[in-house]
Amino acid sequence: MISQILFTLCTLAALGVFFYQLWRRFLLLRSAAPAPRFDRIPDRIRAMLVWAFGQRKFLRSNPGAERSAGWMHFFIFWGFFVLGIQIITMFGRIYSDSFVVPGFSIDLLGGPYMLLRDFFEVAVLLAAAFALVRWGIMHAPRLYGFLPPEKRQREKSHLEAYIILIFIALIMIAGLVYDGGRIAANPHNPQIAREAWWQPFSNLVARGLSAGGVGFASTAALAALWVNGLIILVFLNLLPPSKHFHIITAIPNVFFLKLEPKGQLAKQDLENASRFGTSHIDHFTWKQVLDMFSCTECGRCSSNCPATASKKPLAPRQLLLDLRDYLYEHQDEMIEKRLHAGNGDGGETPEVGENIVGSVIHDDTLWSCTTCRACEEACPPMIEYVDKIVDMRRHLVQEEARFPKEMTRTFKNMETQSNPWGIDAEQRFAWAEGMNVPTLADKPDAEFLYYVGCAGSFDDRNKKTTQAFARVLQKAGVDFACLAREELCNGETARRLGNEYLYQSMAQMLVETLNNYKVRRIIVNCPHCFNTIKNEFPQFGGSYEVIHAADLVYQLIASGRLKVPADFRKRTVYHDSCYYGRYNDVYDEPRMVLDRAGAEVQEMQRHRRFGMCCGAGGGRMWLEEDPDKRVNLLRTEQALQTDPEVIAVSCPFCMTMLGDGIKAKQLEEKVQTLDVMEIVDSVARSRDAES
Ligand code: SF4
Ligand code: SF4
Repeated sequence: MISQILFTLCTLAALGVFFYQLWRRFLLLRSAAPAPRFDRIPDRIRAMLVWAFGQRKFLRSNPGAERSAGWMHFFIFWGFFVLGIQIITMFGRIYSDSFVVPGFSIDLLGGPYMLLRDFFEVAVLLAAAFALVRWGIMHAPRLYGFLPPEKRQREKSHLEAYIILIFIALIMIAGLVYDGGRIAANPHNPQIAREAWWQPFSNLVARGLSAGGVGFASTAALAALWVNGLIILVFLNLLPPSKHFHIITAIPNVFFLKLEPKGQLAKQDLENASRFGTSHIDHFTWKQVLDMFSCTECGRCSSNCPATASKKPLAPRQLLLDLRDYLYEHQDEMIEKRLHAGNGDGGETPEVGENIVGSVIHDDTLWSCTTCRACEEACPPMIEYVDKIVDMRRHLVQEEARFPKEMTRTFKNMETQSNPWGIDAEQRFAWAEGMNVPTLADKPDAEFLYYVGCAGSFDDRNKKTTQAFARVLQKAGVDFACLAREELCNGETARRLGNEYLYQSMAQMLVETLNNYKVRRIIVNCPHCFNTIKNEFPQFGGSYEVIHAADLVYQLIASGRLKVPADFRKRTVYHDSCYYGRYNDVYDEPRMVLDRAGAEVQEMQRHRRFGMCCGAGGGRMWLEEDPDKRVNLLRTEQALQTDPEVIAVSCPFCMTMLGDGIKAKQLEEKVQTLDVMEIVDSVARSRDAES
């Protein structure tokens, strides 16, 4: 009786502290800025079933995350659900030896449940042991942090991880010992004998315990009951202040994931906003704060980040943890302001803490990001990074005018010549000289507008791709026209670099031009243009059917309108661009076109959704890069591992970056860098020349 009173007091105290901690975290969430994430509930439930309960990101083959670690997490995750009933049962048995959770008696679901529970107790025990080996013996680099940006992560104590894993193991052992002890201590009880039939592993434990006699088995069962109860109570209270808070927040975080197109950044209200971008911890939205709560510190994001791999001062995990630490340090202040000054109601609220941009998150960290989304793709609780990084860039550019000096030139070039190179805008259609390409002014009812984009119009190497694609369109008899000198830059670079003001003015001008011509269908051969026109122009009243070159060409080949002999018999490795691939799920079409052209398509270890960025995205194409820290060289080396004759790309920026990589390695004689459309054009033309 005394022991039961004692246990009740412990439980009440522990639950009181636990719920108080949860309440403080909830207030912290409420004190953050608003975010509309309560729409499209069926889609959110579907996403939660697939990504959270299905554990898809853990179980799929991901080059940055060992599969065995994924299975380990799968068993621990499901173990918590299955063993929840066992934990409640063991709490109840402190008070009554015959307690069962309603519905789980041996006459109802009890038997099959005991079998499942027995299996999961052993599986979770093995998973926890495996995790301990990974931490303590294998020293998996993903867990300890990548140098140099994750120095702090590497140097910090990981005691918490060990404690939690040992607790998990002890809870499993306690369950097995309790059931084994109960069986061994009651050899003549027919009901327990029936239960024992369903518990193969507990039966094994029972055999071991019965060697010590009935009294020993009974004491072991009682001790296990207490150990289980007390550990659970301590465990609960370790969750909110630690990375293991994700056990509670990860599923809601998946539920509230971004459902807008992945490549659509939030539109800033330039007319009414009182500030631009994010500079203080309370500027983050509640969903961004939930992201901070939900990080498991698994390191999948950093292990896939090209900036981390090229030793730049950015590792996404460290960025998030720096924000989280700062948030927790200032949580009282944030909650205070919520309670006394109000927030999220449109009223002015004093900012919390200091300006974090520059102090907590360094400028260089923000400028290192290529916005490639590899971190988000890898992250199991679906934490979003690109929006946070661009929001802080927006603050730097629009409020502080603080950015790398070369960006000044880029912005000016975009403003004055409507292209980042700053080449005379009058030259935009020079690539088409002598090609008989119609303009939209001459042919306003053309079926397709071919929007070329700045790289394809002004960069000498990429102009060759534009010409090749135009020839392919002509050969297939596609009814298309170009805007010619009326074409304008769509501003994608400015937006990713945080200059939302410049982006919006450029986007609006281009949308106006397109709408004046009543354009409906647009073909592009640049993933950045594709993403912006398709996913971001609807924010400005520009909704079009946007088709990428590989999709159109594949359709033309399949329908017989374009004859492409399979003559390109070269070992060809295809590099996925981030803005076709991860942002828009375009993976198959370029490969199918290469296959039709006869290329022997090879794959790099990191390909499709796990492909690595070339280093040019997020405006980094126009930023200077330390020669020792070049992303394009890393990606070129990965491509060279497949011993290719050709590196095929579908993006003008990738063309520049990988072409430069091949030049830097002095391999131009041996390995060509070609756009997929150039390959199609070359085989089509070589057959024409023969006939
Ligand atoms: S978007 Fe790409 S470069 Fe930026 S943090 Fe994520 S993985 Fe790194
Ligand atoms: S952000 Fe996601 S991938 Fe990165 S460490 Fe946290 S949970 Fe892992």
